[in-house]
Amino acid sequence: MFIDFSEITDKHDFELFCAHLLETIGYRIIKAPSLGNDHGIDIICEAPVEHAEIGYRWAVSCKHSKNSLGVGDDTFDPFYVRSQLCSGFMAIYSSRPTSGLDTKLSRIGQPQSISVKVFSGRDIERVLIGKPECYPVFRQYFPRSFHSLIGSKRNNYCECCNQELNPLDRIFLVSYVDTHTRAVVTSQVGPCCFDGLLTHLQETGVAHDYQVLRDDGYY
Ligand SMILES: [Zn+2]
Repeated sequence: MFIDFSEITDKHDFELFCAHLLETIGYRIIKAPSLGNDHGIDIICEAPVEHAEIGYRWAVSCKHSKNSLGVGDDTFDPFYVRSQLCSGFMAIYSSRPTSGLDTKLSRIGQPQSISVKVFSGRDIERVLIGKPECYPVFRQYFPRSFHSLIGSKRNNYCECCNQELNPLDRIFLVSYVDTHTRAVVTSQVGPCCFDGLLTHLQETGVAHDYQVLRDDGYY
């Protein structure tokens, strides 16, 4: 993982972050997070639907945890979701759901035909790193991660070969364990070196990870 989710220390702050992120990527917040627990639903939001007054409504459950989340960690009541005029249930988790919880969530909505969407820490990370419009939210809630990943890297160079990149080239953030120092290195890499570097890391069995920092012609 690139983002240190422990920068958010409070459960309620995580809910506020989720609402802020949803708003930034185009959802309208119908019910903002409050301090009480409402049947496990923290936020109600709506994706606009063209020519419709009411959009597609989601009941959102936010869970902030260091450990992966298991079957008992999210109790989602499809009847309550329906009673709030929601068509979907969205789970936003700072860590990874176990496959048991994933399966439970995907099945539980079926009898009520509720769509279920799970956003794990990896998915949040993909959005925060890959969408520049999310950078203000990223910086506000994860200042240290933002600074080390984005703040110091807004140039157009491949750090692997030191070539200047084409402004429309994809840029990847690749992190791996340096075999000499054992430190985790994060490097900004262009298409010139990405495939070669990844193959090398796979072949040598070095622990690694990557995210898209700038997509094809994104700007
Ligand atoms: Zn390169």
